[in-house]
Amino acid sequence: MKLVFATHNKNKFKEVKSLMPAHIELLSLTDIGCFEEIAETAKTIEGNAVLKANYIKERYDFDCFADDTGLEVEALNNEPGVYSARYAGPDNNAEANIAKLLTRLAGKSNRKARFKTAIALTYKTDDVLFLGVCDGTITSEKKGEEGFGYDPVFQPDGASETFAEMSQSQKNEIGHRGKAIRQLIDYLSE
Ligand code: IMP
Repeated sequence: MKLVFATHNKNKFKEVKSLMPAHIELLSLTDIGCFEEIAETAKTIEGNAVLKANYIKERYDFDCFADDTGLEVEALNNEPGVYSARYAGPDNNAEANIAKLLTRLAGKSNRKARFKTAIALTYKTDDVLFLGVCDGTITSEKKGEEGFGYDPVFQPDGASETFAEMSQSQKNEIGHRGKAIRQLIDYLSE
């Protein structure tokens, strides 16, 4: 069964491909000749995942799944949310995004936040949405060198380290993306 993962991120693709059940032949966007950026114009994380999966289904006629992730900070009305990559400007600069986040949170005692990953799947006759959430707090300064994005300032509940101080496998175990991907794999394995 052919299934497309609608991402241009080669690392993400490789990681997810290694987890797929044997009956799924996972195809990349390159494999199906899709080289365009799919505009993420929805107002929610879930909406962007659905939009990307539907784009591939409609234009390329392949079953497909797509993911979208955002950081929601309680004291900032769930900002940056769907704008997580572009919080400080269009160039997805993690340093600038973190600096903006810490400035906005300066002086606030409520530092609660959560990462949310939505995976939208269009498969056979079904449309399914999987959500992976990881609750935590935003630290007052950056800690750790691993990971990417907001990892240096996100400390998951129950942990004494930020995501950027953890190994990839530790992060996968408790993190938002790992949780959502495991739901997808379970669904496809049934
Ligand atoms: P994407 O939907 O996976 O491309 O994520 C959108 C943006 O959210 C990224 O550019 C990062 O700024 C942020 N982000 C997503 N996942 C993570 C994560 O696991 N750790 C830290 N930041 C993340």
